[in-house]
Amino acid sequence: MNNIIKITKSSRSNVSNVDFDNIPFGRTFSDHMFEADYINGEWTNFEIKPFDRISIHPANLALHYGQSIFEGMKASLSINGDPLFFRPEQHSIRMNASARRMCMPEFPQEVFLDAIHKLVAIEKEWIPKKKGSALYIRPFMFANGEFIGVKESDTYKFIIFTGPVGPYYAKPVSLIAEEHYVRAAVGGVGEAKAAGNYAASLLPARLAKEKGYDQILWLDAVEHKYVQEVGTMNIFFVIDGKVLTPKTDGAILKGITRKTVLQLLEDKGIETIEELIDINDIVEAHKAGLLQEVFGTGTAAVVSHVSKIMYRDTLIELPPVENRKVGPMIKETIDGLRAGTIEDRHNWIVPVKQLVNV
Ligand SMILES: *Cc1c(COP(=O)(O)O)cnc(C)c1O
Repeated sequence: MNNIIKITKSSRSNVSNVDFDNIPFGRTFSDHMFEADYINGEWTNFEIKPFDRISIHPANLALHYGQSIFEGMKASLSINGDPLFFRPEQHSIRMNASARRMCMPEFPQEVFLDAIHKLVAIEKEWIPKKKGSALYIRPFMFANGEFIGVKESDTYKFIIFTGPVGPYYAKPVSLIAEEHYVRAAVGGVGEAKAAGNYAASLLPARLAKEKGYDQILWLDAVEHKYVQEVGTMNIFFVIDGKVLTPKTDGAILKGITRKTVLQLLEDKGIETIEELIDINDIVEAHKAGLLQEVFGTGTAAVVSHVSKIMYRDTLIELPPVENRKVGPMIKETIDGLRAGTIEDRHNWIVPVKQLVNV
């Protein structure tokens, strides 16, 4: 395998057309993208080239049968203006775990890392400077075979593109516990960042919005009482000074932010518990006055505070964010690590390698 990435630079940059004080989320794309093909049992054609549309055959296997996976990560600037990644290798590892589950080929970690370093180095001017903003990085892979009939594809495409995102001032979200629809069952594909999981969540999310709630609190697929996740985030509860999160059982996506939060809490000497969490126990803790905080975690918002949870006919109202300790502390710590103002004890921060001669 020839691992060298060919670089073709765009003749002009769009960066001067972007209002960095007002970036619309998910609609702005930088000048270049990385592309690779899986052909004849190996990855080839590694190239960074001008961002453009791609052409797809109508019988493309991903469009019909759903072999499509993705990752979401960010590059940000330290207070000294140096671009950096947060735990980038974890995203490569998880992407390959998703690939295995969806019967897709793994993508070599050294090429994944080389590609994001080179792409972000080329797009350095696209990284927003404002605190809390970042260059969002979207690696994804899909079947590229042309065939009608359910089978694993023998060709795939792997692409990485990027786009600036503003600081995510998430207002606290209201949740409704979902007892009919499920996100994932043990043995299913809930642990994979597989495209179809998000399609399946759209209808329940719309119904929740119609009832006046921002997000769904997902419950397990068998007993409909064990808490899984919130929307597309992992979930944490602070009860009587201890921090609880559902244990990963095969149906819960293994968030990198989740793992980071557990380590940060351990570092601070705060007790963490990973276990099956019965929604009825959360109601009981609330009634006893012991439920202090609920928050979701993920790369996009880092921490998203929960304002209230509706479960059957019980409405759990949580204390105002100003009175919370754990969620805000986590958000500040992760933002601080990314800005380089908090000591990186675990080597989570990886400076983007500078490119010479491009
Ligand atoms: C991506 C994702 C998360 C969060 O994962 P991070 O690695 O923390 O960004 C949580 N739940 C779901 C369903 C996800 O897709």
